[in-house]
Amino acid sequence: MRKFEGDELVLASHNNGKIVEFSRILAPLGVEVLSAGDVDLEEPEETETTFEGNALLKAHFAAKATGKICLADDSGLVVDAMDGAPGVYSARYAINETGERDFNYAMLKVLDELRGERDNRKAAFVAVLALAWPDGHAEVFEGRVEGTIAHQITGDQGFGYDPIFIPEGENRTFGQMSAEEKKALSHRGRAVEKLFNACFPKLV
Ligand code: IMP
Repeated sequence: MRKFEGDELVLASHNNGKIVEFSRILAPLGVEVLSAGDVDLEEPEETETTFEGNALLKAHFAAKATGKICLADDSGLVVDAMDGAPGVYSARYAINETGERDFNYAMLKVLDELRGERDNRKAAFVAVLALAWPDGHAEVFEGRVEGTIAHQITGDQGFGYDPIFIPEGENRTFGQMSAEEKKALSHRGRAVEKLFNACFPKLV
């Protein structure tokens, strides 16, 4: 397992919600966190069919383009009764009829798919992180949180599908939780914990 040695890290994401969450989570690192926008990074097409494949694709692309160590995340909502959809296509699933990304539209589509589904509302959020070096080396970490899909959109915190996801053992959606509460339970929080343990051992 290669350790992170450096004083800056590029967050290879164009998703504002993720950038805000990651910047908070990565604050203890004491390294400068640069966003894709800070380094004029383009967004590669996500052509892989797995979270791991897309996380690696984005991290390698960014490391090659910037010459810096880059962290990418590929994540999504996996719904049992929808055969694992929207899964790796969670961002694309939110494109509405006018071509815009609209999570209200996406959440209503999921609720509609599960209409009449009383028993099986099981779902999970999955996040795979890839840390890539300019020489082509990479490390990968996965985090997952099990839960259920709520019966309606509830809460206005977080981003994406947060207002319809109730993590196991809770009765509120991620959309009703503070950033700190979500971090302690979330797929991304868990993946980051693995990353910290493996690549930033001085922190733990
Ligand atoms: P991608 O990883 O950029 O392909 O996008 C993953 C998509 O999954 C995001 O745009 C969100 O729609 C959804 N997603 C991933 N993580 C979360 C989360 O923590 N809360 C809500 N939605 C999420």
